[in-house]
Amino acid sequence: MPASLTRRQALTAAFCLCCLPSRLRADAAPRAQPAAFQEVAPGIHIRRGVDEDATRANQDAIANIGFIIGRDAVLVTDAGGCLADGQALRAAIRAHTGKPIRYVLLSHIHPDHIFGAGAFLPDNPTFIGHANLPQSMAARGAFYQSHLDEILGRQKSGPLVRPTLTVATMQTIDLGDRRLTLTAHAPAHTSTDVSLFDHATCTLLPADLLFVGRIPSLDGSLTGWIAELAALSKLNAARAIPGHGPVQMDFSAAAALLNHYLTALRDQTRAAIASGIGIDKATMTVATSERKKWALFDDYNSRNVIEAYRELEWE
Ligand SMILES: [Zn+2]
Repeated sequence: MPASLTRRQALTAAFCLCCLPSRLRADAAPRAQPAAFQEVAPGIHIRRGVDEDATRANQDAIANIGFIIGRDAVLVTDAGGCLADGQALRAAIRAHTGKPIRYVLLSHIHPDHIFGAGAFLPDNPTFIGHANLPQSMAARGAFYQSHLDEILGRQKSGPLVRPTLTVATMQTIDLGDRRLTLTAHAPAHTSTDVSLFDHATCTLLPADLLFVGRIPSLDGSLTGWIAELAALSKLNAARAIPGHGPVQMDFSAAAALLNHYLTALRDQTRAAIASGIGIDKATMTVATSERKKWALFDDYNSRNVIEAYRELEWE
């Protein structure tokens, strides 16, 4: 892979991270319906995404998405990977409750988390995102949308819905006897990461700040991600709901595995830079000892090394 990518290649690499394939698989066999929503804690319902890249067959239903029901209202997070995914999520909500859908949290810029938001426009909710999200959507949104349309074919991605409330540091919202704290993070998985903490059940929803089983994708800051993981561990959450992987995990155990990969990526990239090893060669060696631990490793690790190299060579 060349050391210097074109702008289009760089964008493609960026949004392929956890989201979209580098090649189309439109003729893949139809898959079984996605798993049903599970109530992982009282009032928190989550659908597990499949551990794949987006295809026409899976309809980009690859992220863990769900909703939280309070006394008075519902919050959605995330919105789903395309309009149909969002519509299925909305139908699942309506099967559980008739309470108003008052908030839709868009945890970060990646397509598998945001393109279902159009399904909730009729509810007129507050769409919440990181303070950097509008700028990131302006830079990448149209490109993401056209590429996702290309993958999904006649079933279009859905509209790009922009946040109507942005979070720069922290924001608390109340669903009625249910307080939720939203935290806008420094660049980590992306530069637009927002996590959610439900005080009623001590449940952390870190979105893609936590990957389990599927290789994490770096699209923000490697050193920042390691730091944000350490900060989240101080919440002592009773459970965490990863953006990808099982619908609930012990945060410490899952974060330790992720931290092991990120630390290997950081330390081995630094060593490669210090030894004068070029970025191309580094992609073939750095963190490869982690290969057997992560699904889709060969699809993402070299991209992660490129991102890490570019960040760390300026230290
Ligand atoms: Zn992501």
